[in-house]
Amino acid sequence: MSIILASESPFVACQGEGPTQGYNAIFLRYVGCNAKCVDCDSKFAWKAGQVESKKWTNKELFAEIRKYKTSRIIFSGGECLCLPNNFKHSKEVINEFPDYHFEYETNGIVSKSHINSIISFFERINSLLHINISPKFNFAQEEEIDTTPNLISILQNLDFYNFIVKFLFKDENDIKLIEQFQKDWNLSNNQMWLQPIGTNAEILKQTILNQYDKIIENGWNISMRSHVFLFGNKKGV
Ligand code: SF4
Repeated sequence: MSIILASESPFVACQGEGPTQGYNAIFLRYVGCNAKCVDCDSKFAWKAGQVESKKWTNKELFAEIRKYKTSRIIFSGGECLCLPNNFKHSKEVINEFPDYHFEYETNGIVSKSHINSIISFFERINSLLHINISPKFNFAQEEEIDTTPNLISILQNLDFYNFIVKFLFKDENDIKLIEQFQKDWNLSNNQMWLQPIGTNAEILKQTILNQYDKIIENGWNISMRSHVFLFGNKKGV
């Protein structure tokens, strides 16, 4: 198979978000997204007229991956898991590198026609896989889209709990929505990761500090976006 990736892909960097922050990893950023968020910071991966991409055969891509010293691959986007073609390709990568660790960065919005392929994959997957689901319920979309992150209930029904939910927040209103979301989706505090919205270190820091007491009081976790603290809004880091 061949695949179209964002032109920066693959690149190697430290994971900057969530519970695996700090891990050295190869990022594969797929092209295309089913959410089309107005404030997306990765429009170069999906928006018509802005996409920067490169086509890779598997032979080329696998050789490129083998050049790096890390054995962790993070599938990102755009959307890597909920778009069938991207998901199909990611499974080929997983099959090619059976000893690697893998992460999916996904919005969790699974269409009805894609549910069965997701279920059959997660029914037989091993523990080297971790999922980061980032719901978009508090984001505006460019067109009307059902943003229900049904991947959460699909995984819960399969007793697959190696996933966290990563919430982008900017203010107290988001915190209230996230509190309700946790109740509605029956999530444990270990699965709750709050990540500030912002493209520079000062904004991220202030956003965290403004809600810090509430986050700690709720028993939640903080995803710092360490790559933004280090490199600002630069791509491929
Ligand atoms: S789901 Fe993520 S990649 Fe897709 S449009 Fe929204 S923010 Fe961008």
